Amino acid sequence: MAEMNFLNEQKRLEALRSYRILDTDEEADYDDLTEIAAAICDTPIALISFVDKDRQWFKSHYGLAVDQTDRCHSFCSHAIQDPERLMQVEDAQFDQRFHENPLVTGSPDIRFYAGMPLLDKDGFALGSLCVIDQKPRLLNQIQQKALRTLAQQVIDKLSLRRNNRELLKINQQLTATNSKLRETEERLNKANTDLTESKERLQTILDLVVEGIVITDREGKITYTNRRNREIFKMDEKRMLTLTNVSPEFNNRTLDGSPLPQEEHPVTIALQRGATTINREFLVSDQHSNSVYLRMNAVPIRDHNEMITGAIGSFADITDSYFLQQKLKEREVSLRAAISSANLGTWHMDLQTKELFASARMKELFGFYQDEQISYKSVIGQIAESHRKKVIAIAEASLRQNEPSELEYPIIGYHDKKLRWLCATFYAYTDPENPNIFFFAGTTADITERKMEEQRRSDFIGMVSHELRTPLTAIKAYTNLLQRIAGKNNDKMLVSTMEKVDTQVKRMEAMINGFLEVARLGEGKIRLNITRSDLASLFKIAEEDSLVTINSHKVIFAPTETTPLDVDQDKIEQVLINFINNAVKYSPPGTTIEVSCITKNGMAQVYVKDQGMGIPIADQPFIFDRFFRVESDAMKDKKGFGIGLYICKEIIERHHGKIGVESTEGQGSVFWFSLPVSII
Ligand code: ADP
Repeated sequence: MAEMNFLNEQKRLEALRSYRILDTDEEADYDDLTEIAAAICDTPIALISFVDKDRQWFKSHYGLAVDQTDRCHSFCSHAIQDPERLMQVEDAQFDQRFHENPLVTGSPDIRFYAGMPLLDKDGFALGSLCVIDQKPRLLNQIQQKALRTLAQQVIDKLSLRRNNRELLKINQQLTATNSKLRETEERLNKANTDLTESKERLQTILDLVVEGIVITDREGKITYTNRRNREIFKMDEKRMLTLTNVSPEFNNRTLDGSPLPQEEHPVTIALQRGATTINREFLVSDQHSNSVYLRMNAVPIRDHNEMITGAIGSFADITDSYFLQQKLKEREVSLRAAISSANLGTWHMDLQTKELFASARMKELFGFYQDEQISYKSVIGQIAESHRKKVIAIAEASLRQNEPSELEYPIIGYHDKKLRWLCATFYAYTDPENPNIFFFAGTTADITERKMEEQRRSDFIGMVSHELRTPLTAIKAYTNLLQRIAGKNNDKMLVSTMEKVDTQVKRMEAMINGFLEVARLGEGKIRLNITRSDLASLFKIAEEDSLVTINSHKVIFAPTETTPLDVDQDKIEQVLINFINNAVKYSPPGTTIEVSCITKNGMAQVYVKDQGMGIPIADQPFIFDRFFRVESDAMKDKKGFGIGLYICKEIIERHHGKIGVESTEGQGSVFWFSLPVSII
């Protein structure tokens, strides 16, 4: 029982605390109630008292100075024992419970006490509203009712207060929740704008990519297309979004033109089998019924449950490269035919592995057996020692500069030890299938016959020229002698005849010298006597020479500035005069020949322009070759051996210069050479 009481008291105290009224400030509302109670009950003291654990505390104490007393002296703690009822003590002096109470025996000398418990709606008596008098008495009915009503008022106020506090708390919580909600909303809004922005950005990026992009739903219906996609199909977005990947509008076909089975379309493969397709090539039609070759990749789109919800395809228009490839294939076929009919040896080398692949003819030319594995090194080893270094240098330069080159060299066959002359080409290329793989390749043609023939011709010319030089020197001497005698004898007829003989002799001498030069060039014996020269003075000499020797044509020399050159002056003069003489020889009398020079990028460029027969385009690449002459009707009565330009080319190239021609048949030619200008 005692335990239950204790528990009840605990609960009562908890309830009391929940109102948070203890030790609060005085409040007019409560003070009004005690004042009214005192007035109605006609007592000097009225209290609103709460019974705490060890004390009673007064929220309002009308007519009493103290605001709390010990609980053990409390009347109210007795009153609350019977919470429903008003407790009246008529005279405390005669009440067993209180007659020894210091509040009775001393100040404030309590005699009469009436306390109405303050019972809250949960049934806890928190304290009481009480009136106290210093003389014995009792309350009448009206006063008792008033005290009950006022006690109820106190309780109402307390509940209101507690409710208010709770409301306030809820309100605060609500405000907090509200602001959190607002924050979340703002964050959501931001996320939304971010999403829209990144979607727009993605679209811009997708519109920039060079590939066409298509996104479809589960059924293959197109839900997104980028700009390139629409360009390829020449279709607007609205229309595209009504189609599927296999709509008849696309006219999907295989490369041979037969209809592409629906289940073979990369997007369908992604949707139906969940598989990725890479580089599938097929044919479609654009809106204008033009065929377009596509190369397409497609992947499925899956949701978080791994369910396929759509597919993404990216594709490129490969129409141009497809046709190019076709053409390349055709060209390869004809190239192969050409190689075999020209009996060319071919080879290529993988630059990563250094592996050399040589055709049967190539092996044959180098004197290897067909089943023999040959290497770059073993091929190089067969090149005649006189030419080996040069061949390696040219091959390496060709590889380094990625420029094809061509040269002629002798080799000794590996097994048969035979001497052969080869004309070889070199070029570097990348694997069309894989741009990271580099190849070095070339062809070799057997030119032994031609070389031998040239050699024989050269030997013959050299020998004949030598033989002719001796009698010619004698003829020259006799001519000079006869000229002098004729001069002395004043024999005009003989003088003029001897002059003609002299001119013919000089022509013959020039011709023989030319032949000898060619023979020497063949043996690599041409020597340069380099001195500091000036192009302007070279022009001058040529001009004076042409004034004396040419009267059939108008030769105009453009003014030339001083241009220093380190050259063999006689040889360059020889080139210039050769160009001018050819211009005279191959253009009709009375026409103009212009000689001019400009300096550009450190090179002096000399031009000789005529209004002659010109050179057919097909012949132009060979014009500087030894013994080459154009064969045409116009050339029938033009005598010559086709060595002048060959010598010119050798001379200019040995000066590290360049030589060339621009010509239109029937209209004229411009022969030019360029030489490096020396720094003063
Ligand atoms: P040649 O004049 O003795 O035949 P060249 O080596 O000087 O030998 O010239 C080679 C060929 O180039 C000539 O046979 C001629 O067909 C052509 N040629 C040279 N110069 C000219 C030119 N100015 N106009 C047209 N053809 C030319």
